[in-house]
Amino acid sequence: MAEKTFPLDKDKLEKLAETYPTPFYLYDEKAIRENARRMQKAFSCFPAYKEHFAVKALPNPYILKILADEGFGADCSSLPELLLADMAGMKGEELMFTANETPAAEYRKARELGAVINLDDISHIEFLENCAGVPELVSCRYNPGPLKEGNAIIGKPEEAKYGFTREQLLEGYAMLKAKGAKRFGLHTMVASNELSLAYHVETARLLFELALEIFDKTGIRLEFINLGGGLGIPYRPEQEAVRWEALTGGIKRVYDELIAGSPLYPLAIHTEYGRPVTGPYGWLVARAIHRKNIYRSYIGLDACMADLMRPALYGAYHHITVAGKENAPPEETYDIVGSLCENNDKFAVQRKLPKIVTGEKSGDLVIIHDAGAHGRAMGFNYNGKLRCGELLFREDGSVLRIRRPETTDDYFATLDLRGLDEFS
Ligand SMILES: *Cc1c(COP(=O)(O)O)cnc(C)c1O
Repeated sequence: MAEKTFPLDKDKLEKLAETYPTPFYLYDEKAIRENARRMQKAFSCFPAYKEHFAVKALPNPYILKILADEGFGADCSSLPELLLADMAGMKGEELMFTANETPAAEYRKARELGAVINLDDISHIEFLENCAGVPELVSCRYNPGPLKEGNAIIGKPEEAKYGFTREQLLEGYAMLKAKGAKRFGLHTMVASNELSLAYHVETARLLFELALEIFDKTGIRLEFINLGGGLGIPYRPEQEAVRWEALTGGIKRVYDELIAGSPLYPLAIHTEYGRPVTGPYGWLVARAIHRKNIYRSYIGLDACMADLMRPALYGAYHHITVAGKENAPPEETYDIVGSLCENNDKFAVQRKLPKIVTGEKSGDLVIIHDAGAHGRAMGFNYNGKLRCGELLFREDGSVLRIRRPETTDDYFATLDLRGLDEFS
């Protein structure tokens, strides 16, 4: 069972909402740091390890600074993400650049920052050479195709647009070597939010076997294997988290079997987890402002799917609790909804919850759990919705605002209004 907790009691949360009106995200620094340390400790069984936090999961430089302080680098998929990681003090090979359909300007920036470029396709070797030059250290992304089953969020590898085929990889490394590359990495990312331990261990086996095949056929000795992201978290209370030691124990057994006694030793292990790093340690807090009873009972929040899109996008489950009513009996059945003019703007459908009081000021505070990754970051402005801000609950109990809410000025900022009055 995954325990669903929140770091502040109702009184403290109400006080916080006086300073920072709802909705907002709250992240727990202590919990993020403790988890990062557990992770580092578990992966220390490998001769060399580096986690590159997937910036897209929580693109805030304060969070990135915390993670940098814990020894993590960053995995960036775009130029702005590279800039965010740079802002947080992550430099050179601490940065992994895993993009696809990558524009030349982004390759140039990645090269300028000394990031490890992870190529998505064999044709990008020449593209990179022409726009930024081939670096000494380069990585390639593998798509195992029919060799690996995908899962619902990311789809089947065979149908996924990412990566090189096996044959292309062998050819690609040889091409890169001929063009001056001297150090090489191999990467894959074949699933998303996958809670099966065996799945991740099998992915590692596939990559270790491939690394050995690459050595046999090309003489290229890979320096690292990046196992990607995709490790799931227990969004539902009845699910179990994958324990870090269980994961690393499983991967280490395969490593010992295939790599430890091979010429590839000491092959480094890299990961680029996002979700399991911050996901469980962030919450979206909103106030229940409206209630309507038609064919169902609806509770309307002051947050909407512009703030957290996963339920609408994937039908994803997010656990919901009501501040101060954690132990109250779930005697009502509600759809918990936002204000977007889309009927899928529902944080929960037919959810059993304690009776919720509504009102602009006096309404209950509703806590949406496991929103610390792919939460605020996925937000958008459709329907003129302004995204909420982000707060950091510090280790000393203080709260720091790390992003203000959007304003109408932000929303209008990209419009060029200078010619509007004369326009007809
Ligand atoms: C999204 C992504 C990740 C992070 O995935 P999580 O599910 O958040 O761990 C890592 N690597 C790449 C290439 C990604 O696209």
